[in-house]
Amino acid sequence: MKNKISIKLLSIIPTFLLSTSLLVSMPVQADTQAYSTSPPSGLAANKVPMFVSFGFDDNGIAGIGSDGGMDWIIKLLKTKKNPDGSPVHVTFFNTTKYMAEPNVTETWKAAYREGHEIGNHTVLHEKGGKKQYDGDTALNFSVEQWKQKINSAQRSLKQMVSGLGGNNENPNVIGFRAPYLSYNENMFKALKASGMVYDTSMQEGWASNANNKNYPWPYTLPTGIWELNVAPFVIDNNHSNKVTGFDYNMWHNVWGKNLNKAESLKLLIQNFDARLAGNRAPFMLGAHTDYYDSTYEGSADFSRIEVSQRREVIEGFIDYVLEQPDVRIVPFNNIVKWMRNPVALSGGSSGVLDLDAMATKVNTYQEDVGNNYWKYFTQRSWAHRFLSKELESVATDLWNGNKSSVTLVMILIFN
Ligand SMILES: [Zn+2]
Repeated sequence: MKNKISIKLLSIIPTFLLSTSLLVSMPVQADTQAYSTSPPSGLAANKVPMFVSFGFDDNGIAGIGSDGGMDWIIKLLKTKKNPDGSPVHVTFFNTTKYMAEPNVTETWKAAYREGHEIGNHTVLHEKGGKKQYDGDTALNFSVEQWKQKINSAQRSLKQMVSGLGGNNENPNVIGFRAPYLSYNENMFKALKASGMVYDTSMQEGWASNANNKNYPWPYTLPTGIWELNVAPFVIDNNHSNKVTGFDYNMWHNVWGKNLNKAESLKLLIQNFDARLAGNRAPFMLGAHTDYYDSTYEGSADFSRIEVSQRREVIEGFIDYVLEQPDVRIVPFNNIVKWMRNPVALSGGSSGVLDLDAMATKVNTYQEDVGNNYWKYFTQRSWAHRFLSKELESVATDLWNGNKSSVTLVMILIFN
């Protein structure tokens, strides 16, 4: 990082430099991100956004006017805002056989128009991965089989979203989740060949020493596909007790019993709090809109929590996380976008230096120190990435009112 920056200390600075950014565009980053339990680009965990993402799978019985779970979440999210004022969007990994029902397709379109992300969850929801145990019904698809499953769903979804408009930043369908999280090596080859950008099928974090401090951040696989791994939830902060990070698993079977409303909300909040204070690897919750639909009322799978309570858990969790200033609830594709160009938070929370506030303060010093100025180039927030330890300590002095630090003008020159 150091050789990327040279710092020059000058006592005079031409006026035009004070109003003109010297920053040039960063070269486009290739999709190569090493596996790491730390945030990218050397950013400190308390300086990066705490991303929270909901990935709703299947979405087969969730249509408009049917009291559908998908309709419910779309309407609910319209009433929520991220702490930075941005809208709250999620991802729907759709299984396209359900498009036979026009009501379902209309709801999917409505979601897209609202700015939610549409992802690919194959056509038929088959278990295509490697057999994991005796009697496992996994089909161990070949590359060609996977390609056929992925491309067929991809064609339907792309056709569906084309020309829909809306405010979605990513008009292409770029993300994939394997049904049952069942994958094999062939699947990743097929994803690459099919032009997909990310996968979110791999589970990581089951080792007893894995926890919310060291779950991996998204990384790229050798094929260049981004892996947004599914992390398990830790039960009652006991790292040897975990459950798959999906709604079904939370309510269906933990220690052989189903969690009720209070227990599951507590589980989510405990894990979120630990992640926020930990390494801030994106908190990605797997879910199914169908389970928020009256069709699943009274299901034996969820004997201790009814539909209205499940909805309350999700809303309660969303409201809880949105209280935290560093949280951004975003679709999965936005996490990839951020990973490709990671920028620190610019707000003043969590000990993050507030450069705008600092600049205002510096202006008040200008009268005292004559021709000497401090100039930070804040026009591009990625400048925060290059804030070295030395600069940070000078900046902190400045922030604390130590005028001797402002007797020189500092220019950051990015090579
Ligand atoms: Zn599924």
